Amino acid sequence: MTSPSPHMQGSAKPWEVIIGLEVHAQINSQAKLFSGAATAFGATPNSQVSFVDAGFPGMLPVINQFCVEQAIKTGLGLHAEINEVSIFDRKNYFYPDLPQGYQISQFKHPLVGRGYLDIELEDGTVKRIGITRLHLEQDAGKSIHDQHPHKSYIDLNRSGVALMEIVTDPDMRSAEEAQAFVKKLRALLRCLGTCDGNMEQGSLRVDVNISLHKPGEPLGTRAEIKNVNSIRFIGQAIQFEIGRQMQILEKGETVDQETRLFDPGKNHTRSMRNKEDAHDYRYFPDPDLPPLILDPAEIERVRASLPELPDAKKSRFMEDFGLPSYEASVLTAETETADFYENCLALHSDRYDLQKFAKTCANWIIGELFASLNRETLSIEQSHIAPAALVELVKLLLDEVISGRIAKEVFAEMWTTGASPKTIVKNKGLEQVRDDHAIAAAIDRILAENTDKVEEYHTGKDKLFGFFVGLVMKEMDGKANPQQVNELLKKKLHP
Ligand code: MN
Repeated sequence: MTSPSPHMQGSAKPWEVIIGLEVHAQINSQAKLFSGAATAFGATPNSQVSFVDAGFPGMLPVINQFCVEQAIKTGLGLHAEINEVSIFDRKNYFYPDLPQGYQISQFKHPLVGRGYLDIELEDGTVKRIGITRLHLEQDAGKSIHDQHPHKSYIDLNRSGVALMEIVTDPDMRSAEEAQAFVKKLRALLRCLGTCDGNMEQGSLRVDVNISLHKPGEPLGTRAEIKNVNSIRFIGQAIQFEIGRQMQILEKGETVDQETRLFDPGKNHTRSMRNKEDAHDYRYFPDPDLPPLILDPAEIERVRASLPELPDAKKSRFMEDFGLPSYEASVLTAETETADFYENCLALHSDRYDLQKFAKTCANWIIGELFASLNRETLSIEQSHIAPAALVELVKLLLDEVISGRIAKEVFAEMWTTGASPKTIVKNKGLEQVRDDHAIAAAIDRILAENTDKVEEYHTGKDKLFGFFVGLVMKEMDGKANPQQVNELLKKKLHP
């Protein structure tokens, strides 16, 4: 049989990357999914374990209603169908840190059905990623292999903790899209308060399903990269996997369906196990748990309690403040950033055009403030500059008391000393000079010192105009009003 040669080097069509994600998000809950044991991260090993979590025979699980509500909330945030009837199944497998011998999960009838999440790419385009489902399940315990030379330890604190498994359609086509999805999902979960999104502590873990094919041809065999725990690693793991699979396919060989692990130290993925088929788990409905039946009124009650979601906030920022799409998404990506921005805008007064005021505040937050926070790896809640102080600076700028260049200087001083912008401007004498005579005198000095350049200018080198403006501004320590400098310089050069 002759096969088409999609794998041949130099064949015209490029490979298309198909990515779907399975995200395990730990529900923000004080108690576990089927027991009252606590869930605090970092507690003494095996100090938060009930008989249910330890898999003692005869112990009966009881569903935690709060966890169900959190999952419904998340489902609604994903614009998804909430199923009034869902069923808990036993997913049977053996693992030392799974004392029950099965995980209680949902298989055929998940709590949440189809939904979607819109992501925004760097070029500003919006792409809709389908959500296949969201179901509730228990987490397993932890095996610890690095505490003793020949022994492994087991910590069951995590056993029974509530997880939402969120599965996407295979709609992503690049590492960038997968990363944008996880960022957006994390922001949504944090905004809803249903998961803290802390990837380092394992509250949000991502499995990446990835395969390559030529457009128009059947999908390729996928590999699954398990438990990637940072957005950067998701990008690196996908890039590596694209290269690995492409090499295999270009040689005419086939990709194995398997589970792989990403090793950040070596920046590669390695095989962990061949993927078991789903039926190996022998799913069956857990006889200890009746079907979960929701009252439609309860779903509506949860819907009514939803906060404003990031997408709605973004649209509001664009409509109410005239913000461009890019600025609006950056400012609504995290609830804390949006709050900071809204605290700034609450200080707007009629003296200032709202749109100009809003845009100027946005620019300072996204520019200087983010740069300063990044430099010191601080969150916006730890900012050295509060909204009121930033607005004071913006007002000095809009009132033309200081120039943009001086404003940056003042910002740096505010950041390090905590002084108010007005005090800094006053103490350092940074007010803009609006005195025509002073500016004219500075221009005269500059033109007199640069007679050769003035001649060149008059022979047609127009670009030198900017050069003169720069020298005059420097001569006046950046304090001259740039517009006045422009006007007066024009008059001097063309009397
Ligand atoms: Mn799972």
